[in-house]
Amino acid sequence: MDLDLVFVGTSGSVPTAQRAPSSLLLRRGGERLLFDCGEGTQRQLLRSSVGLIELQEVFFTHFHADHYLGLPGMLKTFALRGRDAPLTIYGPRGLKELVGALRRVFGKLTYPVELVELRVGDVLARDGYDLTTFPVAHRVESLGFVLVEHARPGRFDVETADALGVPAGPERGRLQAGEAIELVEGRDLIVHDNIVSMRTTAGLRRVDVIYRRVDDDFLDPLAFRTDSHLGVAGLLNAYRAGNVSLANAIGREIIEAGLVNVWLTNTLKP
Ligand SMILES: [Zn+2]
Repeated sequence: MDLDLVFVGTSGSVPTAQRAPSSLLLRRGGERLLFDCGEGTQRQLLRSSVGLIELQEVFFTHFHADHYLGLPGMLKTFALRGRDAPLTIYGPRGLKELVGALRRVFGKLTYPVELVELRVGDVLARDGYDLTTFPVAHRVESLGFVLVEHARPGRFDVETADALGVPAGPERGRLQAGEAIELVEGRDLIVHDNIVSMRTTAGLRRVDVIYRRVDDDFLDPLAFRTDSHLGVAGLLNAYRAGNVSLANAIGREIIEAGLVNVWLTNTLKP
C-alpha cells in the first residue's frame, strides 16, 4: 500500500513568493485526505502533479485564517464544475460556525457538504487504518491527526521458525499476530544453590514454574542419565527443595490433556 505526503503549503501566517500557507495532502492507496486548506491551496494542487482532484474529505487542525482561507474558493470551484459527489469536512469545535459564516462567500453548492466536529481522542475507523486525534499546544483549540495502520500479519517463515526451535503450536500463531514469545531451552536454565534461574540479556532471572515437554529421563542428567546432554543439571534437587514447581509434574502424563484432566477432576469434584 503506497503512503505519502504532498506538502501543498508550508508557510505560516502569510504566503511568500515561494510558499503557500498550510496544507498537506495525504495519499494512501487510492485515498486522498487533505489536511488544512490555506489560501491558494487549489492553485497549488493545480500546479502540482496531483491536480485539483475531487477531494472527498478535508480535515482542519484549527481555525486560524492561514489554515482555512483556501476552503471557500475550492468549494466554489467544485460547484462550478457541477460536482455532485458529497464532501465531508472534519475539524475541532467551531467548524459548523465557521463554515456557516463562510456560506455567504461560497454561496450555493451543487453537492452536499457534511460537517463533523471532532474532539481530542476521537478515532475514525477506516479500512486498514485508524485516524486518531491528539491534543497539540496552540493558542486556539487544535487537533493533531495520526494515521495508525492496522497490523498486517505477514507470511510466516516456517524455515526460520524451525531453525530457531519455535515449537509447532500456538506460539507460532502468537508470533504471526505480532506478539512476542519467550523461548527457553534447557541450556538457558542453570541451577545454583537449588534455585533455578534463566539466562536473559538482562542477566539471570529466577524461574518459579517450569512446564516440561521432555520425558522424565531427560529432565535432570544428574538424577537420571549422566550421559545425557539434555535436561538441567540439579533441577530435581531444586524441585525437592520446593524452589521450583513443575507444571505437569514428574511421573505424570506429559501431554497437556493429562494435566487438564487432573485439574478438571480436582476442581469439579462435588
Ligand atoms: Zn495557528
